[in-house]
Amino acid sequence: MKITQIETIRIGQFPDLTFVQVHTDGGIVGLGETWYAASTVEAAIHDHFGPLLIGRDPSDIEAHWQSMFRLSDHAGYGGAELRAISAIDIALWDIRGQSLKLPVFELLGGGTRHQIRVYNTLGFYGDITDSHDVWRDPVALAKSLLDEGIEGMKFSPTDFIARESGGNLLFKKQLDRALQPFREIRDALGTDIQVANDGHGKWNLATAIKIAQEMEPLQPMWHEELLSPLDEDAHLRLQASTVTPIAAAERLMTRYQHRRFIESGAARIVMPDLTWTGGISEVKKIAVLASGHQLPIAPHDCVGPVNMLACAAICMAMPNVMIMEYNRAMHRGWYSDFIEPNFVVKDGFLKAPEEPGIGARLASGVRDRADASVRVSSEPRESWLESRKRYTYPPPDIQEEFERL
Ligand SMILES: [Mg+2]
Repeated sequence: MKITQIETIRIGQFPDLTFVQVHTDGGIVGLGETWYAASTVEAAIHDHFGPLLIGRDPSDIEAHWQSMFRLSDHAGYGGAELRAISAIDIALWDIRGQSLKLPVFELLGGGTRHQIRVYNTLGFYGDITDSHDVWRDPVALAKSLLDEGIEGMKFSPTDFIARESGGNLLFKKQLDRALQPFREIRDALGTDIQVANDGHGKWNLATAIKIAQEMEPLQPMWHEELLSPLDEDAHLRLQASTVTPIAAAERLMTRYQHRRFIESGAARIVMPDLTWTGGISEVKKIAVLASGHQLPIAPHDCVGPVNMLACAAICMAMPNVMIMEYNRAMHRGWYSDFIEPNFVVKDGFLKAPEEPGIGARLASGVRDRADASVRVSSEPRESWLESRKRYTYPPPDIQEEFERL
């Protein structure tokens, strides 16, 4: 089997969303996705990685990951290049699963479970207005989740306050008001529902410690990015100030950045975003690394639907998964417009995909939407590595001399 085309689809309605389809000469099409800076990701795919892969066997997933990463890391890895690698990696796993007629989790070692508990990040789409409801009637909101069997939720009660001071000043009266919904939930429902706190990296260390200590009696499930995970030392100091676990972090890239937080103890819960940090191939390695330190992973979501499918493969296969992020507003609001079939969350659990590959295809009609921007690469061309070999390595006769040694 050979890769014949790599196609990106950007959607005007969701300008951060990029779908990737990897086409093969056998007719199998793999689906991947990433989120954020979509036109930059599109350029990375077509300018850098497409030419590396067209004409190659899609089954050599790890080899392709390594060659894409090496190409990217030439100028420092991260950003759009790594998001592009993540999306392509998901599509390659999807092809492998389809060709073997198995769900991807079966290729990762088989199921350690066949469903994973989810928590609901409060979103807003269509009829679901969770992120506003939590301020109007937090107890009713929490009960509506419990009624569905969802026993965990996450929201961001303080991050918007940080805008005014750049994360440097938080008044006690602001914090008291921000935590009022959480207190009402605890007063009415006790600890029936777990509540996680996401700070989106907005606060400095001193304020993050103040927030963590003030929230301690409420027993949050975790604190996530109360400060940006730029260095593990600050996170370690935050962790030392509270018994609440510190989760880190969706914006850590690859095993190399996660390693520092895992080994230092700065992360008690490891939270990779599969579509940003390197795809299925890399999150599997991050999960293994975490397991070696007796730490759980809790994969990040709040992006597009394919991420949930790819995370489902990881969640079913890897033994040290704690819980999966989920956004019911997105799931019910718009995911069905883009994937067929939609994934299943029932009674508070994400179910193992049953279809081969990652478990769904790009919905018919997505490419033909009026707001879709489709770009296709189908020509292999001289890669950066090949041109380097030609122009910056020793002359060909000297290279041949080395090959004979
Ligand atoms: Mg977050």
